[in-house]
Amino acid sequence: MSNVSELKEKIVRGCRFLYMDGLMDHSGHMSARIPGTDRALINPFSVSRAALVAEDVVTVDLEGHLVEGKHEPPAETAIHTCIYRARPDVLSIAHFHPHFATLFAIAGVPLIPVSSHGAVFGAALPLYMDPDHVTNDEQGQAVARSLGQSRAVLMRGHGVTVVGESVEACFTGCVYLEENARRQFFASLLGPPLAFDEDEIRRVAKSTWKEKSFKKLWDHYESRARAAGVI
Ligand SMILES: [Zn+2]
Repeated sequence: MSNVSELKEKIVRGCRFLYMDGLMDHSGHMSARIPGTDRALINPFSVSRAALVAEDVVTVDLEGHLVEGKHEPPAETAIHTCIYRARPDVLSIAHFHPHFATLFAIAGVPLIPVSSHGAVFGAALPLYMDPDHVTNDEQGQAVARSLGQSRAVLMRGHGVTVVGESVEACFTGCVYLEENARRQFFASLLGPPLAFDEDEIRRVAKSTWKEKSFKKLWDHYESRARAAGVI
């Protein structure tokens, strides 16, 4: 299998796994940079995330133009292309509208590391303030600026964008982000959460963010998805 075919298959799995967890619904997208090129692969606008197959995945250049594929790219492709241009270290991006993390982006309450997996996002997630859809380059660049060097950015009244050094790392970030948001939400009902301090964030993030952890999580989702008939 070529590198591109493999990446397309990973995007299909990533989207279906996120759909299975209720993190992606009828909208949301995942992309992968084709290494060494100015191109990226992304699931298209119209195809259900529950029924996506590799042939549906389209190729865009980093200006957002369709290069190859039979479908239209997502309306918010600029989120992906602008971040790829700004962050050479990023090889995969997911944009979606998960329930708990989006609540923080609506309430304006900082999403902070309260659980071990949440430590990988640092002291507090950045918040992109414009609630409009990101449909042009100017807006995409503003999202990239809000993201900065972080692993994820909350988008006010809208959703989140998560980046990673591989599709598996990006997917892991998606799962960890929503998990931390859910835990912070419920823990806050009991009292003020005990956020990690700077040293704890550094140590816990280091012991958490590992290639073998991405693989373990990915393999688990693959097994679950097979059992559930999602792939
Ligand atoms: Zn969106």
